[in-house]
Amino acid sequence: MALFPQRFIDDLKQQADIVVVIQDYVSLKKTGATYKGLCPFHGEKTPSFHVTRDKGFFHCFGCGVGGDVFKFLELHEKIGFADAVKLLAQRFGVALPEMEQSDEQRANSAERETLLKVHESAAAWFRQQLVSNAGARIRRQIEGRGITDATRDALGLGFAPAAREGLKAALLKQGFSQGVLLRAGLVVQREDGSVIDRFRNRLIIPICRDTGSVIAFGGRAVDADQQPKYLNSPETPIYSKGRTLYGLHLSKNAIRQRKFAILVEGYFDFAQVYQGGFEGVVASCGTALTPQQAQQLRRFTSKVVLSFDPDTAGQGAAAKSCEMLVAEGFAVNVALLPAGDDPDTFVRKHGHHGYAERLEHSTPYLEYLLDRAAANHNLNTDEGRVKFLGDMLPVGGRIPDAAMRDRFADRLAFKARVTDEVVRAEIRKAVVQRQPTFTKRDVPSFGQVTKAEKGLIWLLIHQPEDAVAALATLDGPDFDGLSSRSVLDLARKLNEDKGFSPSALLERLTVVDAQMVPLVTAIASEGEAHVTDAGSCVRILRRLRVERELAALQREIDRLQELGAAQNGTEIDRLWTRKHDLRSSLDELI
Ligand SMILES: [Zn+2]
Repeated sequence: MALFPQRFIDDLKQQADIVVVIQDYVSLKKTGATYKGLCPFHGEKTPSFHVTRDKGFFHCFGCGVGGDVFKFLELHEKIGFADAVKLLAQRFGVALPEMEQSDEQRANSAERETLLKVHESAAAWFRQQLVSNAGARIRRQIEGRGITDATRDALGLGFAPAAREGLKAALLKQGFSQGVLLRAGLVVQREDGSVIDRFRNRLIIPICRDTGSVIAFGGRAVDADQQPKYLNSPETPIYSKGRTLYGLHLSKNAIRQRKFAILVEGYFDFAQVYQGGFEGVVASCGTALTPQQAQQLRRFTSKVVLSFDPDTAGQGAAAKSCEMLVAEGFAVNVALLPAGDDPDTFVRKHGHHGYAERLEHSTPYLEYLLDRAAANHNLNTDEGRVKFLGDMLPVGGRIPDAAMRDRFADRLAFKARVTDEVVRAEIRKAVVQRQPTFTKRDVPSFGQVTKAEKGLIWLLIHQPEDAVAALATLDGPDFDGLSSRSVLDLARKLNEDKGFSPSALLERLTVVDAQMVPLVTAIASEGEAHVTDAGSCVRILRRLRVERELAALQREIDRLQELGAAQNGTEIDRLWTRKHDLRSSLDELI
């Protein structure tokens, strides 16, 4: 991705008043120098969300999020930095700069643009065919499946007639080249060299990005003997099956609001659940969910409910999806349906209330697994209990959260009638055998950051000239072991490069050590500095350095004395002298 020039970003930030931007989403009230409101990122009743207009940042003391205006949009709109920049530029009428791109990048993005355009045109053509006379039979089929016109339109359903060159002719006429149609996978080249429509005599289901752009199609057979039943677009530069969750563009807001997602398998399951008033639904489209799809979902929620048919549960894609989601740290619930039903048939028979009740009575997947495995083994025999444990221990080993794992172990032990300790130990072994999971480095809490560090950080934002001048008098070892080292180091380097400003600091920090951004915005949002002049901060940090050195010297003296004061006398004397000098310099630093 090409980067925006720094000048442009700085100008845009000047134009884009952070209070105006955030007020699009949050109602803010001016109190003193800052604006306050209810945090949009966590539920709260008393406002702890602060926006500081002149410095251009926000911070929530409730949940700890913070950053600049770009960060706010990234978090709130669930978009990347580049899209946040584009959105703001549009909002404030600032023209985007000509991007410096390599020829290859230009060619790639031009190709993607073209592929998106051709999909948009194809989707429109398929929709026209569905509402034309030729589509009458297919419309009746859709109706027969209980799908209303409103749902049909929301999903953008279409029809590909049986003709070999229907779509191809239409798109060529619109000026798209045959090469583009081939690369988009909308047409296929046959062995005799002829190029014909990929989708013929099929109900067309457009597959979209979560922004709503059509990037591929699913085609369902409309005749009983037609093979294959489903035909999909191939992978293209704009479409990767394993990274796309069907329906997310329609459901992402509902998922965010309701704080969970319903995961179903097929397009028609999706259509019925969505139409039934459960808008927070996505479909995996017949295959097990991939970790990439789980990541897509995690931007909106970490809780998922799946509907299971008890006959097929435990086998197949749904069970694999559950396992993967649990391993990725999702809270997964299972809503059991009557035997033989899927969400499509169930919602048609029992409507909104029937399905709502099933969702309400959903159980955590792990408990469901335990119950099902317990039912499959005779736990009155040693053999049955050993098999039961053998089935369940690897499941426990894949639970990423330790507390959740222990709860699972206790339940498992209870059912297998063995002691908790044995099961916990076995599960621990299973954990060790699998790959280690990523552990997040702890963000230093307020407490670990000394008053002098906090003072300097506050001053860097509010009285930058004094603060950078003071910082310039410190050097590398002064920062050793400080919790906010990355922040102070960065400020010093920016100053050396004559590029220091409070907003440059925040912005570069998101690249260098993003986890420190909320700490900085939190400190900067406070009414005044902990230590009010930069000179004192610097003296305190120097003192801390000297105290660290003194402690190290003392440890070395102790070590030598233990080895034998007689042999090491000269060295010990030298260290004593050094210690004495350091002590005197310490007194000067008060
Ligand atoms: Zn918050």
